[in-house]
Amino acid sequence: MQGGQELDSGDSLSAFRDRFVIEDPNLIYLDGNSLGRLPKGTVEAVDRVMSQWGSSLVSGWREWYDLPQRLGAKIARLIGAEADEVVVCDSTSVNLFKLTVAALQVQADRPKVVTDDANFPSDVYVTVGAAVLTGKTEFDVVAVEDDVAAATSRIEAKLDGQTAVLTLSHALFRSGYVHDMARLTGGAHEVGALALWDLSHSVGALPIDLNHCGVDLAVGCTYKYVNGGPGAPAFLFVRRELQERMRTPIWGWFGQRNAFDFSLDYEPAAGVARFLAGTPPILSMAAVEPGIDLLLEAGLDRLREKSVAQTSFLIELVDEVLVPLGFQMITPRDVNRRGSHVSVTHPEAWRINQALIAEMKVIPDFRAPNVIRLGVTPLYTTFQELEEAIDRIRCVVTERRFEKYDVAKSAVT
Ligand SMILES: *Cc1c(COP(=O)(O)O)cnc(C)c1O
Repeated sequence: MQGGQELDSGDSLSAFRDRFVIEDPNLIYLDGNSLGRLPKGTVEAVDRVMSQWGSSLVSGWREWYDLPQRLGAKIARLIGAEADEVVVCDSTSVNLFKLTVAALQVQADRPKVVTDDANFPSDVYVTVGAAVLTGKTEFDVVAVEDDVAAATSRIEAKLDGQTAVLTLSHALFRSGYVHDMARLTGGAHEVGALALWDLSHSVGALPIDLNHCGVDLAVGCTYKYVNGGPGAPAFLFVRRELQERMRTPIWGWFGQRNAFDFSLDYEPAAGVARFLAGTPPILSMAAVEPGIDLLLEAGLDRLREKSVAQTSFLIELVDEVLVPLGFQMITPRDVNRRGSHVSVTHPEAWRINQALIAEMKVIPDFRAPNVIRLGVTPLYTTFQELEEAIDRIRCVVTERRFEKYDVAKSAVT
């Protein structure tokens, strides 16, 4: 096995690390799948909008008004969509709500919604809420968490002529498993259901081809692998042919045909813009763009290649160093079925994670009940960091450093 240093010297993307604010080079950040690092270009971009605000005042809106569409067109290039199929707005949860309600209304004669038990809990809450609101009576949460390898066939078995929408997360937040988007979307279409995907854990981490897979609807987050900043606005995708048939449940003036007519009669805007609601948060929107630009500059194929090399390297290290210490790997070994994080379980996962952050300068994250996620962000993670992180985890366990930490969980993990 090649060492970290050797692998880093052959890395054609290594220069991108310098494009990020890295105050402490000894701190190993493996949580880019939860909150990406700050690109240096973002500091300038936000500063520029602040200056515009100060000098241009309200006329700044001439430049800011179409940011949801302009950023959407760039996101489209990351997810295999057309420029006029994506807008950046609101949060992932709100966008999921808008698209789910719209989809369930279009599928009025079908009572059933299908998802799986490995989906992000917030997505399940939003989906159930939307189903209740639109009078849907059946909700199928397919059990896949215990055996993700069986996920595709178990989900397919639940799709039938009663199914209105199949809604899934593309890369699963706990295990890092990546669903077979083409096959499951095809399965939904075979029974006349719509397919809605949440790309939060895959956008910016792996190439996605929504149109090639025939996806109807999608949402995703920009503060993870897109490095858009805490609480950055999310995006939504509506396949072009569906746009004129669908209506958002939030009839706001940014989704109105001629917002500045101030007419009291709501008429949805043409195209995907009808899914906008109210005034976009311009400072946060401005912070998203440099992150997208970095991904486009590096190229998703190259990023994916490095991500696969890094997760493979990490898995070898887990097998060699951590498994003998009582860890188990829950991320798929099949590269086609995994995203950009590697998850391990350990009975003491919570306390080990605390020790890593408090005294070892390693930041992974913990997910209940016993999972530690090691996120790889190819734009700034080095192979040497992965090697060093595994060594620090080994240290915490063999020296039993975790024992002095509290077993009680804190509010944010
Ligand atoms: C991160 C994530 C979210 C976050 O939603 P917010 O509305 O930004 O809180 C939603 N769904 C999935 C699958 C995620 O990974």
